Amino acid sequence: MIHVADMLAEADEYPESRKSALQLGYRTALAVPLVHAGDAIGVIFIRRAEVRPFTERQIEVLNTFADQAVIAIENTRLFEEVQARNRDLTALSEVGRAVSSTLDLRLVLKTIVDRAVELSGTDGGSIFYYRKEKGRFELGETTRLDPVVVERIRKLDIATGTTGLGEAIANRQPLQVPDVTKRASNPLRDAALDSGLYAALIVPLLSADEPLGALVQQRRQPGEFPQAVISLTQAFADQSAIALENARLFEEIAQKSCELEMASQHKSQFVANMSHELRTPLAAMLGYAELLQEGIYGAPPETFLPILTRIRSNGKHLLGLINTVLDISKIEAGQFKLNLGEYALGSIVETVMVATESLAATKRLAFTIEVAKGLPYGLGDEQRLTQVLLNLVGNAIKFTDAGKVSITAGAANGHFAVSVSDTGPGIPPEERERIFEKFRQVDSSNTRAKGGTGLGLAIAREIVEMHGGRIWVESTMGQGSTFHMELPVRAAAGAGAA
Ligand code: ADP
Repeated sequence: MIHVADMLAEADEYPESRKSALQLGYRTALAVPLVHAGDAIGVIFIRRAEVRPFTERQIEVLNTFADQAVIAIENTRLFEEVQARNRDLTALSEVGRAVSSTLDLRLVLKTIVDRAVELSGTDGGSIFYYRKEKGRFELGETTRLDPVVVERIRKLDIATGTTGLGEAIANRQPLQVPDVTKRASNPLRDAALDSGLYAALIVPLLSADEPLGALVQQRRQPGEFPQAVISLTQAFADQSAIALENARLFEEIAQKSCELEMASQHKSQFVANMSHELRTPLAAMLGYAELLQEGIYGAPPETFLPILTRIRSNGKHLLGLINTVLDISKIEAGQFKLNLGEYALGSIVETVMVATESLAATKRLAFTIEVAKGLPYGLGDEQRLTQVLLNLVGNAIKFTDAGKVSITAGAANGHFAVSVSDTGPGIPPEERERIFEKFRQVDSSNTRAKGGTGLGLAIAREIVEMHGGRIWVESTMGQGSTFHMELPVRAAAGAGAA
């Protein structure tokens, strides 16, 4: 604190203040410093027109005021700092949202450069892409730049060589250009100079240390950029790099899925064609075996008959497998279609029973059917529905070693309900959905005893769902399984058009 009783008497000590005392017409003066954490941040200076020193009490009051002023100033500064920090964070989170919510790269980068310039209070900004293969920069999004200048820069051939952009990405560090007039001439620097932008801050966009481009801020006023602006620009540059990297990855994935889709289409088409090709000679072989057995080419010796029977049954098995593969490849290729017509559920059950009875008998399984009386006629693909039921009953017999297999069929609320129960091993809970997936088998080991392709239930589900129905399984381990089917009595016309 400085207390001067009469400033006019202080010619030696305070020559400057003496002059102003004369000008302003004061004599006594009291100056109290505003000190915060050891730093002087201001002064309260009071004066009197006459010579009359301030009292102890008055000095004490002024000191208290000075302390209050320091607190007030400091609070304001803190408040402003928090405000600025909040603004930065809000902008960053906004940019973060833009980066993660849209795949429109240009929109994201535009948001970034807009916010960066707005928050830093600079006069213009731009994002440049670095084209590694050409060693060139291309102008991307810009903000607050004169459209004429933007057009001019777009046409420039910007090599890495002498440009600040090149320097920044080579060093992988932000580059400050406090005064562009001090840099060697290059087309980009000249364009900046012509539009009156003297200072530049160039922050490289890096992904895993690979340069992808640069975020540039420009200012009319020459000079260094404050540290806060550099940190903020760095944060925005990081976001830009993420956005660029996301876009690149997305494109790569899109390209890959396109290739995979094509490959898968080709494979499905190939498998479908092959299956057709395999069926023709097999049908001929089966036909000739039948003719031989029936004695068309003369009575075969007794000993040939069981062999011919085996040829025919193995051939039929093979035909079944080929048909399964053909079905699944048609489903994959989206070419699987239903042939809708009238059918009687009772006769489907009958057909399946006739076809599988002997199998059940061989395994000494009881086999029962229970079809409700007076069922309505259904509309659907009889052949395909028979295939589904055949598969369910075939599985039931295949997996059951003792006990019985039964089919029930009824109708309620416009739906048929068909179920196939067995007293087999049961299906573990975690497999009850998965067995309906392609190639899925509860026991897929090489030493499986039961055989099969793991495709039957996938095809069955497809057929049932194309009819507008559902198929699922209930099971108790060690006691057996029941496969349920629920089918609309009349499948919607156009069902299975897909
Ligand atoms: P596949 O019978 O040709 O293996 P499916 O798609 O018809 O193929 O059946 C898939 C798997 O579901 C079978 O391998 C078997 O593990 C299980 N599964 C199907 N039906 C039964 C059943 N009734 N009892 C026990 N497991 C069954």
